[in-house]
Amino acid sequence: MRGRSVCRKRPVVAIDGPAGSGKSTTARLVAERLGYIYLDTGAMYRAVTLKALRAGVDLQDEAEVARLAETCAIRLHQENGALRVELDGEDVTEAIRSPEVGRNIGPVADNVRVRQVLVARQRSFGEGGGIVAEGRDIGTVVFPDAEVKIFLTASPEERARRRWRELQAKGFQVPFEEVEKEIQKRDAEDVSRPVGGLRRAPDAIELDTTGLTVEEQVEKVAELVREAERRMRQREC
Ligand code: C5P
Repeated sequence: MRGRSVCRKRPVVAIDGPAGSGKSTTARLVAERLGYIYLDTGAMYRAVTLKALRAGVDLQDEAEVARLAETCAIRLHQENGALRVELDGEDVTEAIRSPEVGRNIGPVADNVRVRQVLVARQRSFGEGGGIVAEGRDIGTVVFPDAEVKIFLTASPEERARRRWRELQAKGFQVPFEEVEKEIQKRDAEDVSRPVGGLRRAPDAIELDTTGLTVEEQVEKVAELVREAERRMRQREC
């Protein structure tokens, strides 16, 4: 655990949860509503995976993949309410969501050195607060001192449905059963990961989004952030 080194004016909001739990949508919309920076850390692991696939390196070669992570430039920015991802100056927003990247991300996310590089970059984005960061290890590893920690969940069927619809909308024709299997596989990988595994921080608030509308879940999280803002205004440091 790292101690709090800065007196933040606005909270760091850490949102963790399994694939398809609605993290990205919730985090993006909460950030937009409150004027915060939105940090999609999964996009960073995806970008490194895409880079490694394109370079044709063996994904098990930890040193080589880590070297790519160290040297690549990843830029995340909002454009018309959507997150755009740039890798070495190229827009890879759509490319990083391909099923091929999804299938190959495991060894990249397990790579300790890749995680060190990306976690350091994530901290530098958010140290001062006013950020909504989402991933698997945000409340536990990246920002253990986050003022707001949310753990989003939803039933596996609901999450598979969401992911399938998302892929359809992006033009990837994948059978539903395949998406369901992929979700199950990702769940198993996420919890058994030796580093950066999915764990609920003991002080995180669990929010089950099964059956909630997007607006409902966004508002619940936004209200928790507003409460934290009020607490921070009263606090002296
Ligand atoms: O959130 P998303 O599905 O885009 O994440 C892609 C992959 O990156 C997941 O398999 C997840 O395990 C990994 N990831 C991670 N640590 C994070 C965010 C994502 O290991 N902070």
